[in-house]
Amino acid sequence: MLLPLVLAFNAVSLGSTPPPVHAPPFPVRPLAAGVYAVPGDSGRGSEGRPNAGFIVTPAGVVVIDALASPRDGRRLLASIRTVTRAPVRYLVLTHHHPDHHFGAIVFRRLGAKIIAHPDTRVLASEAGNAALVKDWTRVVGAAAMRGFAFADTPDIPVLLVDTLVLGGRTIVIAHPGAAHTAGDLTVWLPDDRILFAGDLLIEDGVTMIGDGSAAVLLRALDAMDTLHAAVVVPGHGRISESPAALIGATRTYMARLRTEMRAAVEHGVPMKRALASLPPPDDDRPVSLNSRRRRNAARVYVEEEKSYMGLDSAGTTP
Ligand SMILES: [Zn+2]
Repeated sequence: MLLPLVLAFNAVSLGSTPPPVHAPPFPVRPLAAGVYAVPGDSGRGSEGRPNAGFIVTPAGVVVIDALASPRDGRRLLASIRTVTRAPVRYLVLTHHHPDHHFGAIVFRRLGAKIIAHPDTRVLASEAGNAALVKDWTRVVGAAAMRGFAFADTPDIPVLLVDTLVLGGRTIVIAHPGAAHTAGDLTVWLPDDRILFAGDLLIEDGVTMIGDGSAAVLLRALDAMDTLHAAVVVPGHGRISESPAALIGATRTYMARLRTEMRAAVEHGVPMKRALASLPPPDDDRPVSLNSRRRRNAARVYVEEEKSYMGLDSAGTTP
């Protein structure tokens, strides 16, 4: 299992030296003393540039997510450099989707340690890492990918929960279970009550349970609620100063979908008919709102079918 992965890693390395291209910084938004967001697009749901963040401590910088390409990683670094010259010690990855970690190599080459969940598998990499890179290069362009190599294998794996204390700052990194992907992590700053939620939260409330499950997502949302965060940075879209509203909207959507799919299964309604009321997925836009709603419905239908037949595996039922 490991060897093909290593080979794939070597095969898709696109050169070891980042090209000397101009990397204009993205705008930076302070959230609290020493805590910054690098807001991505808003109004585009999962399709826009993700949010990233960084924490400046007297002992160095902790970066949260690395964006979609080496070029965006360099732009993120330039953004950090508008605030501090301190070394980047750690990069935390909220999960292993390319839009969140394909810029990670920029930080690893600077000596940053990667903190991530060790399960790097995602649906998008089913055809292998080389195919994933090829597909993604089509999305972001070859110029953005110059200097790319995978850098999401953790130096510091987080399997359940770990607390990083750096320069007097406490950073709690937790795996909520497989909600959006198998390798989900959230980052919680208890002193400032700021939560970086990764793609467990999306601005439009329609989080995709790509490789996770509705049950785990709902459980994770409940756990997020108990934090009473002052600010939540979702994986994509507007940064919410009303975390309870965003968490609530996500929960309402997913709980309703679950109820509907459960009723369909119990009444013997086939999946195709159960999904008929939803708009069709968008061709070539796998994470558009319509596509996410459709994929979630299909996923939840199967979950409920398994549960109804008593076939659900441990951990998917709350
Ligand atoms: Zn994602």
